[in-house]
Amino acid sequence: MSVPTAQSLLSLASAVSGSVWARGDDGLADEVACFNTAVVHDPDVVVAAENAGDVALAVGYATAQGLPVRVQATGHGAFEPITHGVLVSTRRLDSVVVDPVAREARIGAGARWGSVILAAAEHGLAPITGSSPSVGAVGYTLGGGLGPLARTFGFTADYATEFTVVTADGGLVRASADEHPDLFAALRGGKGGLGIVVEMRLRLVELASFYGGGLFYDADAIEPALRAWAEWVRTVPDTVNSSVALLRIPDIEEAPPPLRGRTVLHLRYAFVGSPEDGELLLAPMRDAAPVFLDLVREMPAADVGLVHSDPDTPGPGWDRGLMLTGLDQEFVTALLEVLGPETEAPFIAAEVRHLGGATARRPAGLDSVGGREAAFTLVLIGIPVPELFAEVLPRAADAVVARIAPWRATTTNVNFAGHITSAQEFASAWPADAFERLAVTRTAYDPGRVFSYGPA
Ligand SMILES: Cc1cc2nc3c(=O)[nH]c(=O)nc-3n(C[C@H](O)[C@H](O)[C@H](O)COP(=O)(O)OP(=O)(O)OC[C@H]3O[C@@H](n4cnc5c(N)ncnc54)[C@H](O)[C@@H]3O)c2cc1C
Repeated sequence: MSVPTAQSLLSLASAVSGSVWARGDDGLADEVACFNTAVVHDPDVVVAAENAGDVALAVGYATAQGLPVRVQATGHGAFEPITHGVLVSTRRLDSVVVDPVAREARIGAGARWGSVILAAAEHGLAPITGSSPSVGAVGYTLGGGLGPLARTFGFTADYATEFTVVTADGGLVRASADEHPDLFAALRGGKGGLGIVVEMRLRLVELASFYGGGLFYDADAIEPALRAWAEWVRTVPDTVNSSVALLRIPDIEEAPPPLRGRTVLHLRYAFVGSPEDGELLLAPMRDAAPVFLDLVREMPAADVGLVHSDPDTPGPGWDRGLMLTGLDQEFVTALLEVLGPETEAPFIAAEVRHLGGATARRPAGLDSVGGREAAFTLVLIGIPVPELFAEVLPRAADAVVARIAPWRATTTNVNFAGHITSAQEFASAWPADAFERLAVTRTAYDPGRVFSYGPA
């Protein structure tokens, strides 16, 4: 294992516009701090890039030193510590430029969805985002990107029109339908091992508002509400987006007062159309069981983060996700048996998102998005106690997965898989043909596996 010399680090630091830290330097830990605070990176070298040239210099340095390269924007996707090699931090590449005529945004590698949403909203436009505005737009889109409006608009990767990438040889490559189409197809959902994206171009949609938010059902209304949801989702058009989350809200000050200490079902709803139609379509769920908190209303498109209201402060995180081929009343019975309010399940949230509609439709050209054939996602989020992460939570999640096995899809999506530890799980994050194509493209653009990705 090679160790960078002081001399080599000095020449790297003098060449880049941004900052360079070596292991042990003050400031390194802050630069690479993750949203998931249970993960603390300690690589040999961190390069805080300020431009594409810095990224290229970092990659050139790593290859010359025989070190692997990793990349981080926000640390929302951090599952295990990086303890070796060069970590390129893209936080400062956070520019967002909207072209209202072309209805497109140029998004830097470090930009979070929140800033893209605000920049687009100034022109009555919206990006197709994920549930949380604090997630990085590029890292998210590289995995496909399945958000609160996905049934209506599809995966976010379907809206990417170009990626500017630093590849393993340090070169800057534009990947689009016309240039390097193999790399473009791989970056639309293939996630890692291809290069460092410094900028992406994304089509925006014309959307000023939608009708949505959350309905909360108390513990004794969870079963009727969940059973009603399982029927209701069969009836709704593609303009209706919804998910349910069984939440065990801890009795702590940070929790919102009406929910503190309660076990509830949170129905998330987003209807793209008139508030009147949205209200009509939601009526069966408002009537299905007593709702103790109703936060559904017409809202600006820029408030899309309120649909899920994900926590946006860093903390220790553990999750496991998979996809489902469908669900029915027997599934609800199974789910409640292992996760219901009467159980001692060690999960603060168990979320099921309704897919279909536009998520099942492929865009023009090749792509690598996993999970198009699935009907629902299921994500388990563990109690945020790091001592439980190694054994207790994986064992409890295994038990849940075993119970719902009849409904489990064979493939999933890399953004929803959680911590991938085996080659089998890695392969299942993409359809078989896309996985094979990805391997070929990774070898073509990174023959030396500089961008180490996936389980060893
Ligand atoms: C609270 C929360 C909500 C989420 N909601 C959704 C959701 O609704 N839908 C969904 O699909 N996913 C969701 N995710 C998953 C999220 O999309 C992934 O974890 C994504 O990888 C986060 O990207 P990031 O850049 O913010 O994270 P980071 O941890 O900084 O990056 C994660 C990975 O993305 C890749 N990456 C990042 N930047 C680059 C780059 N410039 N070039 C090449 N590779 C790069 C790397 O493989 C990196 O390891 C959510 C995650 C969290 C924690």
